[in-house]
Amino acid sequence: MSAHAAAGELDAMLKRLHLPTIRRLYPELAIRAEAEGMSYRVFLEILAAEEIAHRAETRITRSVRKARFPFLRTIEEFDFTFQSSVRLQMLGTLLGPELVAEGRSAIFSGPPGRGKTHLAVAIAYRAIQNGFEAFFTSADELIGALSRAAREGRLEAALEPYVHPHVLVVDELGYQSYAADAANVLFRVVSIRHLRRRCTLVTTNKPLAALGQVLHDADLAEAILDRLLERGTHYLLRGRSYRTRHLKEDPVRFPEDDALHLSPGDARV
Ligand code: ADP
Ligand code: MG
Repeated sequence: MSAHAAAGELDAMLKRLHLPTIRRLYPELAIRAEAEGMSYRVFLEILAAEEIAHRAETRITRSVRKARFPFLRTIEEFDFTFQSSVRLQMLGTLLGPELVAEGRSAIFSGPPGRGKTHLAVAIAYRAIQNGFEAFFTSADELIGALSRAAREGRLEAALEPYVHPHVLVVDELGYQSYAADAANVLFRVVSIRHLRRRCTLVTTNKPLAALGQVLHDADLAEAILDRLLERGTHYLLRGRSYRTRHLKEDPVRFPEDDALHLSPGDARV
């Protein structure tokens, strides 16, 4: 091959090497480099850096789509002044790579509109930015899909999407009344993830002490909480609902059942 490959050939080679960003940027950068007397090293460095940056962006977009978040919210968008029962420093280990490296988990409980889902999504999104994969599901969806799979004798395969991702969000545990085997299938997911030291983020509107009743099995509910809280923390979100913050009076008043919410892993004790 000649020292100077024709533009078409270079294009084809970059395509074959899967370097679409370099392929897109090099003609213009080459003109600039010549005009500015840019060194070969800098020229190459700029192109390599652009390719890497674009790849990271594409990966994040793809992973966010795969995670199936109901909405995308970041930790920067969370108003810790409005929701003062949790502080940003308290979430420290959930926002860095140690979330996955150390298999941290978290339970966010509290009445509706307190930012439980927002925080879980923001933490999972941060994990994606840190290079990991996340998956969001409602407790209802997870229990429904796995109960059905268990009845049809294909539970093992059906568990895969829930046990595989580095971070799993199980949203709204306790909003629905569940079938008799709900505790069983949820326990399977939580215990496999616990063994693999994978992060699980759970949101619930119920006090933790009520989960036995919600899941129709006090022992399994306790076993689930035990595993989640071994390397995890319980955050109780209180205060007013962000959704109805414009109203003078809180339209829905919840009994202050903090005693029921508290647990050994509670961040507030
Ligand atoms: P929950 O899951 O506790 O019912 P969400 O997390 O879905 O509540 O919050 C409801 C809406 O209010 C979402 O759009 C969320 O982004 C927003 N929100 C809640 N709390 C805050 C907060 N402290 N700062 C900013 N936005 C918030
Ligand atoms: Mg929610």
